[in-house]
Amino acid sequence: MKEIVIISGKGGTGKTSITAAFAHLAEKAVLADCDVDAADLHLILKPNIKERGEFKAGKVAIIDQENCTLCGICSVRCRFGAVKMKDDFYYINGISCEGCKVCEIVCPCNAIRLEEKVSGDWYVADSKKHPFIYAHLRPGEENSGKLVSLVRGKARDYAKENNIDTIIIDGPPGIGCPVIASVGGVNLALIVTEPTQSGMHDLKRIFELTEHFKIPTCICINKFDLNTDITKDIEKFCEAKNVNVVGRVPYDVSVTKAMLQGLSIVEYAEGLVSEEIKRMWERLWKY
Ligand code: SF4
Ligand code: SF4
Repeated sequence: MKEIVIISGKGGTGKTSITAAFAHLAEKAVLADCDVDAADLHLILKPNIKERGEFKAGKVAIIDQENCTLCGICSVRCRFGAVKMKDDFYYINGISCEGCKVCEIVCPCNAIRLEEKVSGDWYVADSKKHPFIYAHLRPGEENSGKLVSLVRGKARDYAKENNIDTIIIDGPPGIGCPVIASVGGVNLALIVTEPTQSGMHDLKRIFELTEHFKIPTCICINKFDLNTDITKDIEKFCEAKNVNVVGRVPYDVSVTKAMLQGLSIVEYAEGLVSEEIKRMWERLWKY
């Protein structure tokens, strides 16, 4: 099985546009959107959901009002300020609660219990061409790394059960826990960067991460013609690191127009961008 992850050190580099184009170009693949904090690949892939479920992670405290004597000890001892008073009742603010159990331990009336917290939702769907697994973390929730692992696990299971040997992963931006969860064990990471100072800075950080985990890596410079001086700096960096630049995609407003119509650029229009992305897709198979 070949797993390819598309990542970027920062948001807004065009990572999802390129993933959506690969999704159209792939013959047979499972798609996984691991950008669970801000999933948006579904806007282009237009999924038809076949299965869904809740993602439970961590715990949240609940007060049993019938047993509560309003002593207020839990409110004093909660260092996260999660115990609130309203209409003469104590209640727990689920977003502030860290599930540390202190209130449960100190409550003299056994009026507090901890329950599993629903932190997100996952979906298995059909999309335009391929099965598609994705998830959303609920607002204010954490544990996105665990949800990424869940999405990847479901994508692998689906691929095995249906004899599909390619998984294309849209990874999260940045270099944090969800990114590490999305790159672990993949066969290839494609880093999408752009020729800006922040793009260069974040490329170095994300490359350090894939280098650290010894993940075969290649680079796509998106909108390379917007600043050819920085593009040259990126190419020099890649040469020094012995990493291939597999794509130099020019800027074209058609990419935005395609997104607005819910299409990948290769579906929307022929042209330099589509041609380069098609070449890049072919090059990825040489790894
Ligand atoms: S410590 Fe227990 S009894 Fe006291 S206010 Fe909190 S929940 Fe109610
Ligand atoms: S579990 Fe911890 S964070 Fe949540 S309300 Fe109780 S003391 Fe506060």
